[in-house]
Amino acid sequence: MSYKRTKEIRKKISEALTGRRLSEEHKNHISDGTRGKNVGIKLSEDHRKKLSEAKMGKGGNKCNRWMGGFKDYYHQKAKELFGSPYCQECNISLEEYLQSHKHSFDMHCVSKDFRALQQWNWYCVCRKCHKQIHRMEK
Ligand SMILES: [Zn+2]
Ligand SMILES: [Zn+2]
Repeated sequence: MSYKRTKEIRKKISEALTGRRLSEEHKNHISDGTRGKNVGIKLSEDHRKKLSEAKMGKGGNKCNRWMGGFKDYYHQKAKELFGSPYCQECNISLEEYLQSHKHSFDMHCVSKDFRALQQWNWYCVCRKCHKQIHRMEK
């Protein structure tokens, strides 16, 4: 009985500790991600408000929000490290691509373990090729 209680308390404490640590990191990741992604895109006031509310942690599922920021963070990092000025599938140049698209190239995670920030794990591709890669995987 007492053993069970201690175990429960310990679990709660460790959950509380990890929760706090993750949400701190999560906040940083999100602001990094948004800063990079929204370059050159004008957001409406309303959209901006929604974004900052999301960052403040109002509403939504805590776990999903964290995973979202986590994933974005690694994709952002991968882009900094392995981003290419050419699509690695069709070879279109980023410069040319940006003339007809408002977004930059995507980073495709090969192993799906986006924590592996290594060259082999990432493809820098245009969205069309990125979609094709995912279609082939299905
Ligand atoms: Zn491409
Ligand atoms: Zn992908």
